Amino acid sequence: MKTLDEVVAVIADARDIGLVSHINPDGDSIGSLLGLAITLNDAGKRVFASLPLPEHYPPQYRFLPGRDLLNTPQEIPGGLEVFMALDCSNLDRLGELCETAEAAETLINIDHHEDNQLFGSINLVDDGASSTAELIHRLLKRAGWSITPDVATCLYTGLVTDTGRFQHRNTAPRTFMTASELAGEGADIHRVVMEIYHNQSLSYTRLIGVALQRTEVVEDCGLVYSYITMEDLKRTGAILPETEDLIDFLRGIKGTSVVALFKEMKEGKTRVSLRSRDGNEVGPIARSMGGGGHAMAAGYTSERDIKESIRDLVDILQGEWSGD
Ligand code: AMP
Ligand code: MN
Ligand code: MN
Repeated sequence: MKTLDEVVAVIADARDIGLVSHINPDGDSIGSLLGLAITLNDAGKRVFASLPLPEHYPPQYRFLPGRDLLNTPQEIPGGLEVFMALDCSNLDRLGELCETAEAAETLINIDHHEDNQLFGSINLVDDGASSTAELIHRLLKRAGWSITPDVATCLYTGLVTDTGRFQHRNTAPRTFMTASELAGEGADIHRVVMEIYHNQSLSYTRLIGVALQRTEVVEDCGLVYSYITMEDLKRTGAILPETEDLIDFLRGIKGTSVVALFKEMKEGKTRVSLRSRDGNEVGPIARSMGGGGHAMAAGYTSERDIKESIRDLVDILQGEWSGD
């Protein structure tokens, strides 16, 4: 593929390379960022890798190798020759690193969201890829860089988390082939699952209980939802970055179509996560609310409180269902 070769050529020529992935980091954004940072560092590049708001780093990804290569956002110089944005559908997702990215000579956008805004000077975007990690694996193979066990573990984490452990609709034959190659390259597949899914804090376990207890179904629009407040976090001792997979606990409720989880944020705002249960797209709903994401997994931030945000979503869904 031409774009892949173009990215390889630009990286090969560069000495200093900036790397960033999106705010509210998840397994794919972190795994892709660390896997690529380790590889480029091993290849003798000067790597400036960072996450916007590094204090939001989820604890379940602390075991991943390469964290020592991360810089603070302030340490990333402006005007780098090459800057790479990973797993970001638009520039807003780069948060405080948006301007630094735009100031680079060449901005490479590597992503798998179908609503990607193609904001890079080079766009390696494939919405048929399960994850950005799958694209990074393709890139590393094309460049002929050796994929070490550490890199394989990082990239495997991206595959596992973005596919919901190879269960979501984005899981394709090529996903399993990539997973198989990563296992052969030494990914610690048992550790990845243990650290991410079987190592939660007692506080978060109790928070899951609080959220499950509150589950509601709105039958006429096929919605199942729950919510967590800042008070819940305080009372249980859980922290927001731990709650990435909380919505998955609501996914199994029969007879429902759309799954939503509302999280109270500062200043009366609410973060809303959406998942499809039956194949009806939730991406357009998130986009209509100023957010984005995939067809089956998307999100947005509402300026309104939890109660109002629930009502807004029910209104949208009831409108859609009645064909308005
Ligand atoms: P989440 O519900 O936070 O797990 O997000 C689900 C998917 O939607 C991920 O692919 C996110 O990258 C994407 N997403 C969430 N919030 C936003 C947003 N405000 N803008 C664009 N994409 C988003
Ligand atoms: Mn992501
Ligand atoms: Mn992703």
